[in-house]
Amino acid sequence: MASVEFENVTKRFGDFTAVGDVSFDIGDGEFVCLLGPSGCGKTTSLRMIAGLETPTAGKIRIGGEEVGHLHPKDRNIAMVFQDYALYPHMNLADNIAYPLKVRGEALEKRHARAREVADVLKIGHLMDRLPSQISGGQQQRTSLARALVYPAKVYLFDEPLSNLDAKLRLEARGFLNHLQRDMGMTAVYVTHDQAEAMALATRIAVMDHGSIVQYASPIEIYRRPATTFVANFVGNPPMNLVAVEAMQAEGKLQLRAKGLAIEGLPMTEAIAAALAAGGGLTLGVRPEHLAVVAPDAANAITAPLFANENMGPESLVTIDRGESARVTARIFTDDHLELGERVTLGFAPGHVHLFDGKGLRIPAAGE
Ligand code: ATP
Repeated sequence: MASVEFENVTKRFGDFTAVGDVSFDIGDGEFVCLLGPSGCGKTTSLRMIAGLETPTAGKIRIGGEEVGHLHPKDRNIAMVFQDYALYPHMNLADNIAYPLKVRGEALEKRHARAREVADVLKIGHLMDRLPSQISGGQQQRTSLARALVYPAKVYLFDEPLSNLDAKLRLEARGFLNHLQRDMGMTAVYVTHDQAEAMALATRIAVMDHGSIVQYASPIEIYRRPATTFVANFVGNPPMNLVAVEAMQAEGKLQLRAKGLAIEGLPMTEAIAAALAAGGGLTLGVRPEHLAVVAPDAANAITAPLFANENMGPESLVTIDRGESARVTARIFTDDHLELGERVTLGFAPGHVHLFDGKGLRIPAAGE
């Protein structure tokens, strides 16, 4: 296993910057997810580690060694692709054993090793089948087995679960989590699914427009999102964000917006600095931190009910403040609410996030 380092890495395609001056380190044995919307540069970053793209500028090191001059096959990397990239004319045994064949292992030895890995992944009984004769989930495990059959320094995954149905996807996610923690492999995993990143990663690099916006543990990203972009991307449903007017009264902070009044939040130096810089403040509250409360409750948002979606144990209650400015609460209740009825959603001041005029998180009091 090995560490991976990016030092001021840029990748341009013509005039377009797909990855711009990115620096970050992946520790030996870490599982790092590159998370972000389509086109933000995740796959390009992964392909540069594999040697399938060459950086326009900057350095990439694997295990401390600069790899710019190394051909993909000399980097000792294993990669699992979204479409599995299995050889259609080879049976599973030959597909899985392929990396050993390339390295000149004898037939008997490579088939024995392929069988060993296949048994761990519970596809050992399918070794004579062609890829077209097995299910999507089994193809995904075959592709994983091929990556694991030969010990690599770093394992790269490009959205490997995206072709699976919801149930198989959850199962495969749990399996990957177990496998990585068990083997202690260094893994870089590309996804645009925040739940997948939260479940798998030791650290998540949230990317936007070719840059890393935040690089931290899943819990840190959930608790202290660095920007409104991260706050809106991580969490299901995402954090509610409301533009507010802010005032000071007797050393306390008051926030106002349509249907919303918050009194008496602690005024900190960081908030004062953000107010002085201008641009307004954005209030953030996660859906799971909202509850239906009495109409006159403090620290609450009131608006007509837009939707009430029952999810089994919980409901998603959405109110609409006008012009599609909606606020969603995730609540555990069977209360009947009528569409259009005015609903008040309240929250504890400790669950409030504030962002400045540039969308950057303002540290909470005591942070
Ligand atoms: P997705 O989730 O859709 O796969 P991504 O975050 O992985 O997106 P990349 O595939 O890294 O995004 O692409 C980043 C940007 O670079 C995109 O705008 C893409 O169109 C562009 N790009 C990628 N490869 C090339 C190429 N070979 N030539 C030109 N532009 C490219």
